[in-house]
Amino acid sequence: MTWEKFEQLLDTQTYTPEDRLVIRRAFVFAEHLHQGQKRASGHPYFSHVYTVASSIAQIKLDAEAIAAALLHDTVEDCGITQKDIEREFGVHIAFLVEGVTKLDKIKYHGVERRVESLRKMFLAIAEDVRVVLIKLYDRLHNMQTIRYLPPEKQKRIALESLELYAPLAYRLGIGELKGQLQDLAFPVLYPEEYLWLKKEMDARLPEGTTYLKKVKPILEQTLRKNGIVPKSIDFRTKHYYSLWKKLTTYDMDFARVTDLLAMRIIVKNIEDCYQTLGAIHSAWRPLPGRIKDYIALPKPNGYRSLHTTVFCLGGKVTEFQIRTQEMHNEAEYGITAHWAYEEAGKPKKGTRVSGDKLSWVRQLKDWQKEVGATVDGEEFIESVKIDFFKDRIFVLTPTGEVIDLPEGATPVDFAYHIHTDIGDHMAGAKVNNKMAPFAHKLLSGDTVEVLTQKNRHPTDDWLTFVKTSHAKAKIRSTLRKQAILQTHLDPRTSKKTERFEMYITARDRVGLLKDISAAYSFFRISIQNVSMNTQNKAYPVILIYFEGKDEKQTGKLLARVKSITGIEAVTVKLGK
Ligand code: MN
Repeated sequence: MTWEKFEQLLDTQTYTPEDRLVIRRAFVFAEHLHQGQKRASGHPYFSHVYTVASSIAQIKLDAEAIAAALLHDTVEDCGITQKDIEREFGVHIAFLVEGVTKLDKIKYHGVERRVESLRKMFLAIAEDVRVVLIKLYDRLHNMQTIRYLPPEKQKRIALESLELYAPLAYRLGIGELKGQLQDLAFPVLYPEEYLWLKKEMDARLPEGTTYLKKVKPILEQTLRKNGIVPKSIDFRTKHYYSLWKKLTTYDMDFARVTDLLAMRIIVKNIEDCYQTLGAIHSAWRPLPGRIKDYIALPKPNGYRSLHTTVFCLGGKVTEFQIRTQEMHNEAEYGITAHWAYEEAGKPKKGTRVSGDKLSWVRQLKDWQKEVGATVDGEEFIESVKIDFFKDRIFVLTPTGEVIDLPEGATPVDFAYHIHTDIGDHMAGAKVNNKMAPFAHKLLSGDTVEVLTQKNRHPTDDWLTFVKTSHAKAKIRSTLRKQAILQTHLDPRTSKKTERFEMYITARDRVGLLKDISAAYSFFRISIQNVSMNTQNKAYPVILIYFEGKDEKQTGKLLARVKSITGIEAVTVKLGK
């Protein structure tokens, strides 16, 4: 874990001497700050940071991103503030570190309906694809060392990796990372299923491998006859988790999974891809309906390849995947492929992504255009597009739950979203642990805590800044109730009348209604409406709507009505 060793990872054509200087400063800074800190594994904490930064250097992100990866755990864990990072390393690196730190607060506890908004929130907060990538490789290393954590924590982190991180890696087209995250989470979440699958695979793999080794020279010969020189012929085993998912839809019948192992052929160009496909079909009969042209029609995440399944040597059903090197890199490394695996010899700077909020989405779109996706591509863009949720913000409760609010929402909107009682008794708000005004505009990623007091109530001016119609309606209704209460407490301050409802249960008799209306007349209160529920003939329920002056008067009315012969029960409440 020395600088000298780390520096070897920094490709000389990508990183300038100034780049190295910045990275080195971040390296020394982080190493110093994490000194003495240990991971749950007992390893020095810096080893984690080192690993994450190495991954970022390997995919050739720019110097800012590598520096941010080195610094990504300093703010929360080392008593360093965002301002310190900014002073030491400038706003750009500080912006990336802040993004990663914010993303730490997103926790997924397994409520299905929230997971999609959680993914969107993740992207909205990240703002920059470099932040997402640092976070993904951070998670990868945490998954690689997950066995040292307590079981409960293991479960939560594995679930998050499966539901949140792996799908994001998939959307960015980084198949390799997606597969790794899923396969690391699988045994944690489904230990028995994993053991069963492993046993089955251990029994099947050697035979399959031997078989494909026999196929390879025959395939090479066939291709040579057709004038094709492949760059490489290899075979890949299906990732365990995706295999298991497939099996669950096939009644756990291995015989129906035909791509347990697949032959992978990498050729020079697109023409050769189709030539190769033809050559394979001339040698072995294809299964109908199993030829997939993902070159003409790439998958939504940009994946390109030709797939075919044939009755191969000895009639065994075998899958072949054909692609160019470029397609292969894209499939494995997705969005990172273009800057990480540019042809050697071409001088190239690490990718620069401006702090502009939407730039990385644009970059994604460009990348998508380059890979030539059309119909399905739009679906892909839709799934990551910030426009889609541009007018929404995603904030967190202190326990990490995601609350989805319109842009411009305030802590008051947040409070009413959580519960009317919380809004009605809101006494203050903390945003990211600092007291904030009621009218404060919340931003995606903010953690919001509402302080309440029993004797606090909404005021008129809240209506001037709240954003949601839900909060507005609740505030209005509470204000009205308060006004009534005020009137009742001090009848002299208001001459306004209020609508009341009186519910009477009575033993029915001749003249009952006349006696009740007499009680009203006595106080000069006019009845507005009467309705009667006579389901129980002997004991009808009478509902009277009336306009009253105040509580005192209503109290007297209540007492008088109660005293009428035959009345069993009377209640009065404020009308709507
Ligand atoms: Mn970390």
